[in-house]
Amino acid sequence: MAIAGATTAVVSPPLVPVALIGSTAPDWMEWVAATIGKRVKHRSVTHYVAGWIIGVLAFGLLWDFKHIGLAFCYGGLTHVLADALTVTGVPFSPHSDRRFHLFGGRLRTGEAGEYGIAWGIVLLCVALGGLLHTAMGWYPFFYDWAGLYESGVIDGSEWKANRFRFL
Ligand SMILES: [Zn+2]
Repeated sequence: MAIAGATTAVVSPPLVPVALIGSTAPDWMEWVAATIGKRVKHRSVTHYVAGWIIGVLAFGLLWDFKHIGLAFCYGGLTHVLADALTVTGVPFSPHSDRRFHLFGGRLRTGEAGEYGIAWGIVLLCVALGGLLHTAMGWYPFFYDWAGLYESGVIDGSEWKANRFRFL
């Protein structure tokens, strides 16, 4: 969630919630399937790396509504790629019988390395956001609503409506 949220925030803050829902989807889709009576093994069908890549490409290149499908599949892709860093790994596609691993798949869920990678990426994104801010006067994480109002970009009612929105 940290990886999907932070990277999406750099590109498009409004899509962060969608990416967050997507980033947990491979796991919650498993119990959605279970509640409708289709038991799926953990880290199987919903964790095909190829499936999420196809989703990203399809929504990115063919059709999408306000990039919602793209953000959702991008979130899902970050999830399965993060799972691929672990010892168990993930299946690449229905046709692969071996598990797919990234960087040798040495991480164990819940261990320090996992947090190191996730927060490392978050810090990188915050730094990148800072760079964008100095380079283009735009900071994706904390909108400068008061500054926008003072410089006349937005009017008083917009400032009132948005001043407590920090993303
Ligand atoms: Zn998972």
